[in-house]
Amino acid sequence: MRWKTICFDLDNTLHSHDTAFIRTVRMLFDKKLHEWRNKGLNVSHIKLDSVVGTFKYFSDELWDKKESGEWSRETYRRERYKQTMETYELPNDLHSADRFHEEYEKNVPFYGVPYEGLYEGLEQLEKHGFQLGIITNGRSTTQLKKFEALNLSSYISQKSLFISGEMGTAKPERTIFQQVAEHLRVEANEALFVGDAWELDIVGAIEAGWDALYLNTSAQLPTTEHQPVGQASSFKEAIELIVTLDSKAR
Ligand SMILES: [Mg+2]
Repeated sequence: MRWKTICFDLDNTLHSHDTAFIRTVRMLFDKKLHEWRNKGLNVSHIKLDSVVGTFKYFSDELWDKKESGEWSRETYRRERYKQTMETYELPNDLHSADRFHEEYEKNVPFYGVPYEGLYEGLEQLEKHGFQLGIITNGRSTTQLKKFEALNLSSYISQKSLFISGEMGTAKPERTIFQQVAEHLRVEANEALFVGDAWELDIVGAIEAGWDALYLNTSAQLPTTEHQPVGQASSFKEAIELIVTLDSKAR
């Protein structure tokens, strides 16, 4: 067998984070429109889809400020809320922005939709005898809730779920891959990592001596010369590729 262990990233690798985001935000603004209407505000001209679209627009538009470190996560969240409210001349204050995001955080784990073929694919790999795991960056409670809500525990042991928030190291650092390999009792060259974020997942894994498979669900071009073992555009395709590559090595 070419690999003993296969680990996956979670968001946008096993489910669409973008879908979870839109579904959660839609539910929250639906509630808000009711609230505003009940308070006597005239919101009849505001369509739910367009306010969700505007919020998504500012989330993407302002993302660079957060990524570059210019803004904190809190400032980023308050700004995307404020600019959405201003677009529709709706009431805006920091308290509402913070409450909106608290609700978002609480709900988003439950709005994920597994990628097509997720469970069949994991089952297939398990039958092939691979040890399976997940390495995800994020907060411990949020990522654990997603893991449970997506019913992943039926396929991957919770002991093999590694969350940066509780490990003190995060992708793309080499140490997180090393720690996981140690926990799973596997050598780096017997392990494959599957992920959608080039710099975090692919570069991180390869630098740690793992093989990597690029699941390009975010239509992001490689930014370095690192060589994954393959590239797939869907989860199903990734599984087929793993099985093919592995059978060639048997
Ligand atoms: Mg991801």
